[in-house]
Amino acid sequence: MKEVDVAIIGGGITGILAARKLMKAGFKVLVLDKSKSVGGRLATRRIDGGRADHGAQFFTVRTESFQQLVDEWETNGWVSKWFGKKHARYKATNGMNNLVKNLASEVPIQHTFKVNRIIRDDEKYVVISEEGEQVTSNGILLTPPAPQTVQLLERSDVRFLEDTMNSLRNIHFDPALVCLMTLKDELAFLSPDGHKDTDLPDGIERIVDSHAKGISEEKILTIYATSDFSKAYYDHGDDDIINEIVSRLDFLLPNEFINDRQLKRWRYAQADRVYPHPFLQMSMSEAVFVAGDAFLHEEDETGKTRIESAVTSGLSVADAMQQFLNGKAST
Ligand SMILES: Cc1cc2nc3c(=O)[nH]c(=O)nc-3n(C[C@H](O)[C@H](O)[C@H](O)COP(=O)(O)OP(=O)(O)OC[C@H]3O[C@@H](n4cnc5c(N)ncnc54)[C@H](O)[C@@H]3O)c2cc1C
Repeated sequence: MKEVDVAIIGGGITGILAARKLMKAGFKVLVLDKSKSVGGRLATRRIDGGRADHGAQFFTVRTESFQQLVDEWETNGWVSKWFGKKHARYKATNGMNNLVKNLASEVPIQHTFKVNRIIRDDEKYVVISEEGEQVTSNGILLTPPAPQTVQLLERSDVRFLEDTMNSLRNIHFDPALVCLMTLKDELAFLSPDGHKDTDLPDGIERIVDSHAKGISEEKILTIYATSDFSKAYYDHGDDDIINEIVSRLDFLLPNEFINDRQLKRWRYAQADRVYPHPFLQMSMSEAVFVAGDAFLHEEDETGKTRIESAVTSGLSVADAMQQFLNGKAST
């Protein structure tokens, strides 16, 4: 059985930044992710030799501390400004997923480890996967979207305060439907930077051309449905959803231009009810912490879950865990 100081559930940007900070402070960590690679909602898909982002497309910077980090990433060549002057939109080199891969290059990760539950073993925690693999640790950090964390904790044997669990239950995420299309021919309707989020038909929020964005040799369009459309159509079949999106876009994107069409469903895309602190500790006596993009800093007035809120949450929870675990070790 593997034994570490901190087991981090989820290899999205929250989990990876927390892991880096805890490692720097001398802790032995292991990130457990259910997928074959890291990144979570910073997702890039390869299609026909090209690539397209189909989760987050860009990030903005609103705080000085995040700007410092982004400046380092820019110096490393991992990100660059894409478009926009006020709150410039940053893109990642070779796709958003690549940013997390770069950040995770020295972080120990166990892939395809879908955590099923956590049990206590005296003063330690045992994290158990769906396949029965086990990892023992002194502390646990959970970073999946809050509704998935709630389900996991409800199956687990971990003490928590009922009020804390209710705060977690109160966080609510909207789904998102995203359509990826390869085209037979050039299209003129996008701006030169390949981004369009105005004058679109009802139900369509944003269209991005990954070639114009500079991340793909091939032209692949990523089409984001609005939150209302995504909620209304989430349980429909793939063909139904794609046909509806194509028909709404008909005047911009005639059917004969379209080659391949694929759909991505995000059940938990962005939260519309958030928690007003960068993390939660499930009880004062337990080293079980919960973080993620829905845990916003008290001074964050946007109310929006996004990459910046995930980064802030990951870095803050790492500080809190470090203090708690060091305090425990010295008593
Ligand atoms: C369609 C879409 C568009 C978006 N657009 C933008 C944008 O333009 N700008 C912006 O700033 N933000 C955007 N976002 C939000 C942004 O992607 C997120 O805020 C950020 O990626 C969240 O990171 P995270 O690490 O908190 O969570 P996630 O990236 O969701 O990471 C959680 C990880 O936990 C893993 N996991 C879950 N359950 C388990 C389990 N049981 N066992 C093991 N592993 C598990 C998952 O595999 C995942 O890797 C968008 C999101 C979506 C879906």
